[in-house]
Amino acid sequence: MKVAYYDKKMETLDRDKLEKLQLKRLRATVDKALEIEFYHKRLSKIGILSGNDICSLSDIKMIPYTTKEDLQSGYPESFLAVPGDKVVRLHTSSGTMGTSTVIYHTAGDIDSWSALTARSMFAAGARNIDVFQNINAYGLFTGGLGMHYGAELLGMTVIPSGAGHSIKQIHLMRDFKTTIVHATPGYLLHLYGLMQDLMISPAELSLRKAFLGAEPYCENTRDKIEKLLQIEAYNSYGLTEMNGPGVAFECMERNGMHVWEDAYFMETIDPDTLKSVEDGQEGELVFTTLTREATPLLRYRTRDLASIYTDSCECGRTHRRISRIKGRTDDMFIINGINVYPSQIEAVIMKHSEVGTNYRVYIEKKGALDKVIIRIELFKGAVEKYTQDELDRLKQRLTKELTDAIIVNPTIEFWEAGSLPSYGSKALRVIDDRNELLW
Ligand code: ADP
Ligand code: ZN
Repeated sequence: MKVAYYDKKMETLDRDKLEKLQLKRLRATVDKALEIEFYHKRLSKIGILSGNDICSLSDIKMIPYTTKEDLQSGYPESFLAVPGDKVVRLHTSSGTMGTSTVIYHTAGDIDSWSALTARSMFAAGARNIDVFQNINAYGLFTGGLGMHYGAELLGMTVIPSGAGHSIKQIHLMRDFKTTIVHATPGYLLHLYGLMQDLMISPAELSLRKAFLGAEPYCENTRDKIEKLLQIEAYNSYGLTEMNGPGVAFECMERNGMHVWEDAYFMETIDPDTLKSVEDGQEGELVFTTLTREATPLLRYRTRDLASIYTDSCECGRTHRRISRIKGRTDDMFIINGINVYPSQIEAVIMKHSEVGTNYRVYIEKKGALDKVIIRIELFKGAVEKYTQDELDRLKQRLTKELTDAIIVNPTIEFWEAGSLPSYGSKALRVIDDRNELLW
């Protein structure tokens, strides 16, 4: 099969040329990073005062890692490397206790990011004749605007349908003959269930592909989606700190995701020893931005676990591929595509004096969507002290506050003090019963 490319020269660049380009861009990135006080301090301590002090790609190993906590402590402006008048947009990603990380973008950053999402979707077979329905939250989340700009650049007809209003999504798909959707796998399965209720069969639609990401899922889920909807599904990986979608994407071989190495320098490390692991071994993905101007990041620890494939891809692209994301090194979990930390839940629950000391979060699949049940112990004697009415009102308040905090509507259950399992040294707060092998 003849392979078409969005940017043939870049996508098929010889490895040695690609590495030369990476080195050039890494040096420029270090120069930009030196504008940020945090990096200036760190880099000067190890004798890096200019990008020219980086002699080879392996010199990157001298540079300490950047963590989510570093970005959080720099909230809101410390990781801005350009004057404010050069910034055209910012995105944030949720973090523990509601502290966000902020990524700023110049006009050039938006252009490069859009080119990456356009390149990604083209590699997965999207063309300008396609009708692209972007079923992803627009706003601070990167899945909405990030894919939108790339899809327009590619020349597709974009339906910016956003998240939610499920019945309308299906009507839009049918009425405007959507050929490609971008969604979370769970939400797309949910839409399939709804289509059955509405007696709309996939055969009545023009859908041919789905780009699925933002949450972990396994090959079985991909197979299921492909069979039920009679489409091809492609894995898409990204994170706000590295722009968002467009970091890694499957080509038409659908066998691992190509990481766009002209824009991201990729490493995998052992999260405990922080030493590099060999390609092919599972490790934590670490990325350095190679083109970003407003918020350059050096050796950012993603906390996502994956392995780098060692074989080359049939499609001819020289950019290396990664496996599915096999898990995370932190306690973050993802519910219907939204990142949630137990600490965000804890912060809300523990504000209330009626609440005791213990709680547990259960995550289940209800149909295709994730459902969250939070069991909360009341303090000792609370059941006698409060009327049922008072407890019901407390439940309503908690439901609203938790929905605001984690954007997921949980079911709250009150339990008597001492009735939930207690812990040894390590608190097991979250029981993820979604019953899926994640790879
Ligand atoms: P998004 O808005 O895309 O969810 P965030 O920055 O909020 O962006 O979340 C990024 C995280 O989502 C990643 O670090 C990873 O844990 C998860 N993620 C994104 N894409 C995938 C994917 N294809 N498979 C598994 N996990 C993914
Ligand atoms: Zn390929």
